[in-house]
Amino acid sequence: MFYNRKVALHTLGCKLNFSETSAIARTLVDEGYQKVDFGEVADYYIINTCSVTQNADKETRQIVKTAKRTNPEAKVVVVGCYAQLKPEEIAGINGVNLVLGANEKFKIHTYLEQLETDIAAKVISGAIDDVGFYADAYSHGERTRSFLKVQDGCDYFCSFCTIPMARGKSRSNSIEKTLEVARKVAATGVKEVVLTGVNIGDFGKTTDGLERTEEDFFALIRALEPLEAVNRWRISSIEPNLLTNDIIDFVAQSPTFTPHFHIPLQSGSDKILKLMRRKYLTKLYRERVENIKAVMPHACIGVDVIVGFPGETEEQFLETYNFINSLDVSYLHVFTYSERANTRALNIEPIVSQAVRKERNKMLRILSEKKKRHFYEQHLGTERTVLFEAENDNGIMYGFTDNYIKVAVPYREDWVNTLRTIYLFEFSTFGYVKGEAAAAMSLST
Ligand code: SF4
Repeated sequence: MFYNRKVALHTLGCKLNFSETSAIARTLVDEGYQKVDFGEVADYYIINTCSVTQNADKETRQIVKTAKRTNPEAKVVVVGCYAQLKPEEIAGINGVNLVLGANEKFKIHTYLEQLETDIAAKVISGAIDDVGFYADAYSHGERTRSFLKVQDGCDYFCSFCTIPMARGKSRSNSIEKTLEVARKVAATGVKEVVLTGVNIGDFGKTTDGLERTEEDFFALIRALEPLEAVNRWRISSIEPNLLTNDIIDFVAQSPTFTPHFHIPLQSGSDKILKLMRRKYLTKLYRERVENIKAVMPHACIGVDVIVGFPGETEEQFLETYNFINSLDVSYLHVFTYSERANTRALNIEPIVSQAVRKERNKMLRILSEKKKRHFYEQHLGTERTVLFEAENDNGIMYGFTDNYIKVAVPYREDWVNTLRTIYLFEFSTFGYVKGEAAAAMSLST
C-alpha cells in the first residue's frame, strides 16, 4: 500500500472511458492512494486515451506536458485505446514513464509499485486477442448521473474503425453480475444511470468473447428496470440492427427507461454503408426511427454520421443530407472521416479532400441545429420532468428532461440532484429551453 501518494487522472474520449477511469481510480484509492484533481500536484498522473479522438497524439503530448509542468518529479502513465494501438509511439513522448495496454490497465496499482525503481519509459501491453477478461466499471463523481459499463469490445469491424483492435472481442458479464454492479451504482445516490459499452446491443457474449450466452440486451434491461433506487435509465448509443422492436416497445411502456435513443447511421447512402461494412441499409434505419416515433412521439433520437468517407461523392453526401432531413430525428453528432492505420477504408478511393470534408461537416452541423430547434420547440408549452445538475452558471442551473431536452432555470441549491416537473416556455439560441416550476410542482428526491 502507498499511503499519502497522490494520483490524478484524466480521460479522453467516450463515456466508456470515463467509467473505466473511475474504476481505475477506485482501485487506487482502495490501495491507499489519494485521488486529487488533474490540475493539482500529484505523484502519478494517469491519462486514459482514446483512438477516435482526432490528433490523439498531439492531445496526449499536450496533457503529458501539463502534468510534468505541474510536478516535474511525477510519474506519467498512459493507458486506454490509443495506448493499446500505438504503445511504442506513446513511450517515445517526452515525460511518459509507463504505457499500459487494455489488459493491464485494470492492474495499474501493481505496475505503479514497480515504477518506483524504473527510470526509462516502459511498455506493458499484450496482444489484443489475449484480452480474455471483462472488467466492471462505472463512473462516480458527478452526483446526478453515472455511466455503467455493461459491455466491452466489438466483433463488427466497420471499415473505418480501430476500436475492435483497441478493445478486442465483444464480451460482457452475466446479467446477475451486471445487476450486482448496478446495485453498487444505485447505492451511491445517483438518480440516473446511463448504460454504456462499445456495442451494447451485442450484450450477452461470454467474458472472453468466445461464445454467445442465452442472455441478450433485451433481457438485461428487463432485469435492471425493477432496481428501485434508480429513477432513470438511459441507453447510450445502440446499433440500428440491434435495436429491436421488443426493446422499443419495452422503453415505451417503462416508467424508468427514458425515451431517448442514440442510433449511429454513419451514412444515408446505401452504397457508402456497404463500403463501411455496416450491418444495415437505410430502409432498416428509417423503419427503426418510424417505429420509435409511432409508440413514443416525444422520443429524442440522436444520430451519428460520418462525412468525407472515401468514395463519398457529392451526390451520395446529398443523399445522406436528404435522408436525415426526411427523418424525424432530434440532433446529430457529425464526425469528419479521418484515416486510421490498419483499417480497410484506407484501400478505398477516391479520397475526399479535407476542404470538402470540412464543408460537408458544416452543412450537417447546421442541419443538426435545425433538427434540435424543431424538436425543442415542439415541447414548448408542455411540462416535463427535469433532473437538475450541480453547476451554478452565474445564477443559472441546467438539467435534462427524460427525452434529453436541456433546460435552464434560475439556480436553487435545493434543486441539485432532484427531479422536478418543469414548464418549458422559451427556446434559447444558446441551445437550451427556459423553464419554470410547473404550477402543481411535484418533487422526487
Ligand atoms: S460497430 Fe463498427 S463503428 Fe462501432 S465499435 Fe464496432 S466496428 Fe467500430
